[in-house]
Amino acid sequence: MGYVELNVLNNTAHLPAIGIDLGTTNSLAALWQDGRPQVIRASGETGILPSVVNIRDEGEPLVGRVARDQAVVDPENTVFSVKRFMGRGLADVAIDVATQPYHVSETERGLVQIKLHDRKYTPQELSGLILLKIRQDSCRALGVEGLRGAVITVPAYFDDAQRQATRDAARFAGIEVLRIINEPTAASLAYGLDQRGEGKVAVYDLGGGTFDISILSIEEGVFQVLATAGDTQLGGDDFDRVLIDLARAELADRMSPQELADPGFLQAVRLSAERAKIALTHDPETDFHMIVPETGLRWHRTITREEFEQRIDSLVARTLDACRQALSDSGLSTGEIEEIVLVGGSTRVPLVRRRVEEFFGKKPHTELNPDEVVALGAAAQAQVLVGGTRDILLMDVTPLSLGLETVGGAVAKLIERNSTIPCSVNEGFTTYADNQTGIDFHIVQGERELASDNRTLGRFKLTGIPPMPAGMARVTVRFHIDANGVLTVAAREESTGSRAEIEVAPMHGLTDDEVEEMLQASYEHAKEDFDARRVADLKAEIGTMQRATEKNLEAAERHLDKETYEEIGEALEAGRRIGSSTDLAEVQAVRDRIEAATLPLAAVLMNDVAKAAVAGKKLEEI
Ligand code: ADP
Ligand code: MG
Repeated sequence: MGYVELNVLNNTAHLPAIGIDLGTTNSLAALWQDGRPQVIRASGETGILPSVVNIRDEGEPLVGRVARDQAVVDPENTVFSVKRFMGRGLADVAIDVATQPYHVSETERGLVQIKLHDRKYTPQELSGLILLKIRQDSCRALGVEGLRGAVITVPAYFDDAQRQATRDAARFAGIEVLRIINEPTAASLAYGLDQRGEGKVAVYDLGGGTFDISILSIEEGVFQVLATAGDTQLGGDDFDRVLIDLARAELADRMSPQELADPGFLQAVRLSAERAKIALTHDPETDFHMIVPETGLRWHRTITREEFEQRIDSLVARTLDACRQALSDSGLSTGEIEEIVLVGGSTRVPLVRRRVEEFFGKKPHTELNPDEVVALGAAAQAQVLVGGTRDILLMDVTPLSLGLETVGGAVAKLIERNSTIPCSVNEGFTTYADNQTGIDFHIVQGERELASDNRTLGRFKLTGIPPMPAGMARVTVRFHIDANGVLTVAAREESTGSRAEIEVAPMHGLTDDEVEEMLQASYEHAKEDFDARRVADLKAEIGTMQRATEKNLEAAERHLDKETYEEIGEALEAGRRIGSSTDLAEVQAVRDRIEAATLPLAAVLMNDVAKAAVAGKKLEEI
């Protein structure tokens, strides 16, 4: 009996899988219902939760609007914009900390910590409280007892630590993370842009306190981030500030400087300013008014949209500078961008829409609410992940590093473990011997330093390299993992364009246990591996020095004294004898000996090169 009950409780397959936009200013959740994603909201509400936490002396923490209201009376324990601190150290967030009334310190492991009342909180815990509130509100609105899991979005520029911190926050909230996806990708999914086969998309996201522009490419339904740019200190709050400054300037002769700086007063102007700003989105003019709570002072003024637009124009211009930067980083012109997606509450401002349209020369997508579109896309992705029908290719991370065996048996890692997929990496290689016309590639997966200790994924050969001296050929190797986890490795010799390519089976082939085992092994063998890798690298170096020396020794002999010449010979002989030795100290000594012995030879060769240059001879003729 007991077993049966337990099974039923643990089985979450019948529960909803939602999408969550965990924003800097606001957060919200959405669910795929009736064939499309919809924001989860209790009746009569917007579903938008301010990302604000207020920790109280006793009792449960407050989250959302109620927490934001505490900012006036309890600023020291009210945290806004905790997302800025996720996965960062104190040095990374100095500029954000400077304006906060609470005390911020660092853990031993270099993570930010915020002191509220008598306890220190990590950003993960505070974000966790926001996610917990979203979970509770969603369950209540949907009338379900729990969630199957959630897709959570993060900015495209979030690094591994920031993404991991987001996962940890979800753990605090008891939410199973189905996947972490990029906000611009989610916004594009909400518009179904994944279904347009291929193209370039610009996602312009102006939120409360941050601006992000992302250039994405879609290829066969797979998204790739080509470039991101932005300003972490620019957003709708700055539009509010323009109006706050206006009010303060006009009130300056009626209030003392202390009164003008009073937190209660500032919070009151801030709310009035935001109200006026939002009204100007719909109306050509509005009444900007406020009552100062303490003194009962009343103030009002009419402001037109035109005046507001003049005052924020330079802020909007700054976002376009970032767009220019992102385009140039991605090597694209505005004309090559096929779709523009507007994201973030501040893109409702008419001037912003106009400027973006002028800049790209094209109408941006505005059919969906810009402050909902990220959550909607996350919900669409969640639907796919739990077996829905919509055909969006999945993004994932690679469980283990991928690389190529180098000369000597070491591994050159091209894709680090935990990289989000799809992804592509290019790296340059060259030939090892003179007149080498082919290169064998051995693709391996794993964390160990030596190729032979990792798992072989495949081998292939690039042929048709024209004969040239060692190190002259320029071979570009490209690792590409598509959204299904299929790895394609392609190699191309640049001067002739000869190519070779291999497709490797999906990497999902490994079970979690296998991945765990391979990681465990790499930790256990770390020291041993390190030595083995050093030996392999040193032997490769010895080989290169031997060949270079042998090639030049004869020509340079007449410039060298007898002792030097003999020592070179002996050092080379020692190099040949080293054979299969795995003794690091011994191999290192031989390498050092060859280097020392051949130094005079290098000097002679340099002289020859210099003389040849003076005599106008070409290098190859020396
Ligand atoms: P974030 O992604 O930073 O969490 P949002 O996308 O929710 O933030 O954007 C919040 C910002 O959008 C706030 O500055 C808010 O004042 C602004 N905003 C919301 N609605 C409007 C509107 N109708 N007109 C102008 N600004 C708006
Ligand atoms: Mg946002």
